[in-house]
Amino acid sequence: MKITSAEFIISAVGPAQYPEDGLPEIALAGRSNVGKSSLINKMIQRRNLARTSSQPGKTQHLNYYRINEQLYFVDVPGYGYAKVSKTQRQAWGKMIEAYLQERKPLQLVIQVIDLRHPPTKDDVAMHEWLTHYDIPLCVVATKADKIPRSRWPKHLKEVKTTLGLTAATPLIMFSAETGAGRDELWDVILKHAAA
Ligand code: GDP
Repeated sequence: MKITSAEFIISAVGPAQYPEDGLPEIALAGRSNVGKSSLINKMIQRRNLARTSSQPGKTQHLNYYRINEQLYFVDVPGYGYAKVSKTQRQAWGKMIEAYLQERKPLQLVIQVIDLRHPPTKDDVAMHEWLTHYDIPLCVVATKADKIPRSRWPKHLKEVKTTLGLTAATPLIMFSAETGAGRDELWDVILKHAAA
């Protein structure tokens, strides 16, 4: 995928701020620190457009990036962040749930997990929720460079079993360091964005 333009559009706090041009939206969900910003930056070949390092104060914002005037990446704040208050978490839940359930231009959710460890309880809960609502989903296991290739199958199996992944859901190994999985993920994204 050749990236001709990539711009940060808005950190939206609610539906009134979501873009109205109807371009397809690809949302990225995952725990804080899992590597979402790094993944976005790698996908769009920008070193630092999506900010790496989590921002506890911005847990309720949806960050929109417009790519090639063709689609949006929507960075959904990390779930299961220990340092936010219960009230903040509930607010997070409502806004994100409404976005994921009701947003018309949303074409795909990329659930990002860490290949090094088995999916956490939060990962499993998120996965079950997305599956329950029939939201088109792709799972990306990132930080793959930290695991020797010979051990990928074992880790993959663990991901599949713990999440209860069905054959219909793509599972992609990814590394923001090496770019592994980038082309494969673009294929999945473009397939959904064109639908
Ligand atoms: P976010 O909170 O989900 O946006 O996570 P970040 O993108 O900020 O990444 C958290 C940390 O993990 C940073 O120190 C990144 O450099 C590191 N990281 C992210 N992706 C990878 C990866 O694919 N490989 C390696 N080795 N480190 C990564």
